[in-house]
Amino acid sequence: MNILIIGAGGFIGSHLSEEILARRKDWRITAVDIASEKIERLMEDKNFDFIRSDILKDFDLIEERVKNCDVIFPLAAIANPLIYVQNPLKVFELDFEANLRIVKLAVKYGKRIIFPSTSEVYGMCDDDEFLEEDSNCVTGPICRQRWIYSCSKQMLDRVIYAYGIRDNLHYTLFRPFNWIGPRLDDIRNENNGSSRVVTQFLSNILHGKNINLVDGGSQVRCFTYISDGISALVKIIENKDNCADKQIFNIGNPRNEYSIRELAHKIVELAKKYDKLKNLVKKIEIVAANSADYYGKSYQDVSKRVPSIKKAERLLGWRPLIAMDELLSKTMDFYFAN
Ligand code: NAD
Repeated sequence: MNILIIGAGGFIGSHLSEEILARRKDWRITAVDIASEKIERLMEDKNFDFIRSDILKDFDLIEERVKNCDVIFPLAAIANPLIYVQNPLKVFELDFEANLRIVKLAVKYGKRIIFPSTSEVYGMCDDDEFLEEDSNCVTGPICRQRWIYSCSKQMLDRVIYAYGIRDNLHYTLFRPFNWIGPRLDDIRNENNGSSRVVTQFLSNILHGKNINLVDGGSQVRCFTYISDGISALVKIIENKDNCADKQIFNIGNPRNEYSIRELAHKIVELAKKYDKLKNLVKKIEIVAANSADYYGKSYQDVSKRVPSIKKAERLLGWRPLIAMDELLSKTMDFYFAN
């Protein structure tokens, strides 16, 4: 099987590539990205073909690669809340427009597409747990520009679904719920809000800066270790008896349900075990921050986000294994142990 991974140099793409190359000698990867730092060690593998290319510019190259693959993973996107509010059109151009072109190529050449939706599409839905087929997708007013990411992804979900009906596009939509692990973000960058929440807190610790709980940190998230996410993706690629065909799956760990405040305290506690951080951690306080000051006025948050994973359990035979403390330890070891 030839798998085209666009955005292979990112967090999910690098882990997915690594897992495939380690376990499936009969699968070949064509990897496309503008960055390659996270996949340098894969370059020597004969089943890994890396092409440095910008999907906003190199349309012909992408079309050629789509023609020659069996499955497409379009993973290139901006998934950072600070950019949603500071540069919403950049999010629209990459996450929506560029990915729409790839979806249309999948339709044109009859290719299977495995598309990253997001837990963010459920937005401010107040269901206790989000169900792929039943929960509403609830976003805020237009002036709250944060929702441009959620809307871009939701619209692509709807477009892909509609192509599935009209043109028999073979697709799977997966919705990651806060996947965490090594290589998530570069924590050497010390600007507040430049990383996703776990890596932001790790970055703050590394730079001896206080940890900000945006609007008090009572927001609840379910944290999922990257290896659990990747094992779901491998099952989706395998698609045994077409179990993943034309399906949407929440991929998250409902047992790792923690508030951001609890997360901050856990991370600070765990950071004390690293000798080089001991003195820095002593100075760090966990403080409340106003979202308008932290992200800007057009931010709006989601208070609770818990997936139902019954469908993934039933159809894929998948369930997440890694509990919160192990997830944080493995991630923090990657960033702090060396
Ligand atoms: P990431 O930011 O780590 O990776 C994205 C990759 O895309 C990067 O390597 C980047 O260099 C590349 N890229 C950006 N612009 C490009 C361009 N113009 N041309 C080519 N490559 C380009 O993101 P990730 O965490 O790996 O997420 C992958 C996908 O999964 C995204 O669509 C994201 O929205 C979605 N997602 C991720 C999570 C999560 O928990 N990580 C949650 C929900 C959805």
